Amino acid sequence: MIILTVDQAVEWMKEIQKRMDEHKEQLTVLDQAIGDGDHGINMTRGFTEVTAKIHHVNYDSVSDVLKSAAMTLMAKVGGASGPLYGTAFLKMSVAMQGKDVDEHVFKQAIKEAVDGIHSRGKADFGEKTMYDVWSQVADFLEEEEVNDWGGMVEVCQATIEDTREMIATKGRASYLKERSKGHVDPGSMSSLYIFEALVEVLEL
Ligand code: ADP
Ligand code: MG
Ligand code: MG
Repeated sequence: MIILTVDQAVEWMKEIQKRMDEHKEQLTVLDQAIGDGDHGINMTRGFTEVTAKIHHVNYDSVSDVLKSAAMTLMAKVGGASGPLYGTAFLKMSVAMQGKDVDEHVFKQAIKEAVDGIHSRGKADFGEKTMYDVWSQVADFLEEEEVNDWGGMVEVCQATIEDTREMIATKGRASYLKERSKGHVDPGSMSSLYIFEALVEVLEL
């Protein structure tokens, strides 16, 4: 059974943009605490560009939608998060190439995205980055019979909270060492919005 169509993929990007806009200030504040304060701007700019581009093109496949998003994020987002999210969407695109996106293809694509973030950013689990959230979602999908996509969101929320007491050892937050403790990771929070948006469109 196809679970993600071209229209749903386009809708996914729009839903992400909507959430990034709504939470711009929150992402800014989180990144001000342990980074350079630009994560809200990076995300809203990036996904505004993604949806603007998608609006002008007719896509033949989910893979093409995600490839377009990946290229835009890589080109338009300056921070660490641009290439990392760009890589995630590109890996998903490649995993979905020439395929209808059924449950198996979808899960494989998420797994590839997680591997992509891992090889690009070199963060392991527990280093207080978006990789924490993505890897937990992949683990969840590997274990779960899916009639509960919403479970992905719960996994994200729990993992975000777990990042609070971690000491960052990758990215800008690692400059703060011990002082990075007590704040949740901004990229983990924006990852929640990506998965929230996904769950919303999977349930359409
Ligand atoms: P920058 O840190 O360059 O200003 P952003 O503020 O947009 O970029 O993004 C910061 C987020 O990127 C962090 O909260 C973290 O989740 C993620 N991040 C940073 N470095 C890495 C890395 N090496 N691997 C995985 N994620 C990372
Ligand atoms: Mg930043
Ligand atoms: Mg920056």
